[in-house]
Amino acid sequence: MKVLLTGGSGFLAVHCLDALLKHGHDVVVTVRSDEKGQYLQELFKGKPFSYVIVKDIGAEGAFDEAVKTDPPLGAVLHTASPFHFKITDNKKDLLDPAINGTTGILKAVHRLAKSVRSVVITSSFAAISNYSNPPKVYTEEIWNDQTMDEALNTTNPQAAYRASKKFAEKAAWVFMESQKPSFTLTTLCPPMIYGPVLHQVKSLDDLNVSSARILRLYQGIQRSGPAGSLMHVDVRDLALAHVLAIDNPRALNQRFLMVAQLASEKELRDIMEKNFPEIRGHLKDEATDALPPFGIDNSKSVNVLGINYRPLEETIVDAVKSLKALGA
Ligand code: NDP
Repeated sequence: MKVLLTGGSGFLAVHCLDALLKHGHDVVVTVRSDEKGQYLQELFKGKPFSYVIVKDIGAEGAFDEAVKTDPPLGAVLHTASPFHFKITDNKKDLLDPAINGTTGILKAVHRLAKSVRSVVITSSFAAISNYSNPPKVYTEEIWNDQTMDEALNTTNPQAAYRASKKFAEKAAWVFMESQKPSFTLTTLCPPMIYGPVLHQVKSLDDLNVSSARILRLYQGIQRSGPAGSLMHVDVRDLALAHVLAIDNPRALNQRFLMVAQLASEKELRDIMEKNFPEIRGHLKDEATDALPPFGIDNSKSVNVLGINYRPLEETIVDAVKSLKALGA
């Protein structure tokens, strides 16, 4: 099947591309520059893969050309969304590209790619929770309660990011309800995504947010704020979930909480010290064994998508090995 993958140069997307190709799909990805497309072409040399340039997913009609392919598209995976905290304007830097990018791909498919049967969107645990008033156990039924007013005015970039993911996913479900397109929608809600880095990284200073967290722990660098999300999913398991969702009839028009397990910073650090003896004693003592004051129910992703989450040790070891290969 011909599949369009947006944000192809990202940490998660390169694994989605890998999984799509391994499942026999023919893939076209969107990237923001030729250089990023050529990096992927080199990485997946000889595979049925091509790229198109989409410089700004939030621009009107951004995907209009990308969705017209030969042979026609059967499915779309939309992973592109800004995930960084270098924010000067919540609306311009985060909310507009996240929300308009999501409605933009749905509109383009609805108008111009009638052959598409399913769209899978990478949402986030951020669309489920803003960490206020946690329930005993998080499930797919729960939504982040931030308002648009908070999203626009918060001075906390992490809160603005969480709101961008909540409002983007909401907008997708509103589109489905109001437009009743001929395709189905599946949304996947992961917490921190860890695992091997395959995408182009020119400098370790430019790492994607979640891999930078592993790097900081490996290097023993003091964090500036609170510990942050103490749950994770392996990037390869999440990428596989995107691909399996395309043609699993039980996944259509469903939302999935994609969490492998809760894990404290100390667990992560202990795995690193056990497997990478060179850092023993170098890591700061700040890593605590605290776990979040709530549980997670990931049974829908296990039972419906058939995800067999990898052990944390495999995720962390492979993440660190890839960072070492990049010079960490
Ligand atoms: P990356 O930053 O590595 O990837 C994001 C991708 O989106 C990049 O290809 C980026 O292009 C592209 N992108 C961002 N903004 C624009 C824009 N305005 N126009 C065109 N392209 C754009 O992040 P991840 O791979 O980690 O994230 C992928 C998805 O997963 C995102 O939707 C994110 O919200 C979600 N997610 C990630 C989590 C994590 O822990 N990593 C946790 C939960 C959800 P470029 O690189 O050229 O800027």
